[in-house]
Amino acid sequence: MAENEKKVMVKCPTCSKEKPWKDNPFRPFCSERCRLLDLGNWADGSYTIESSSPPDFDDDNNP
Ligand SMILES: [Zn+2]
Repeated sequence: MAENEKKVMVKCPTCSKEKPWKDNPFRPFCSERCRLLDLGNWADGSYTIESSSPPDFDDDNNP
């Protein structure tokens, strides 16, 4: 019947499942869980850019 209705699907970056874009409050993720997982990856440091930390951070500047 309405199978030809144009549905925009979006691939969840976390689990690669395809979900309809419409009515999805968590897009581009498929669910809140996947969104949180992705945020967790960032917080986890999985996505952080490798950068050399400054050598010898001087802590003796405290008053
Ligand atoms: Zn997902």
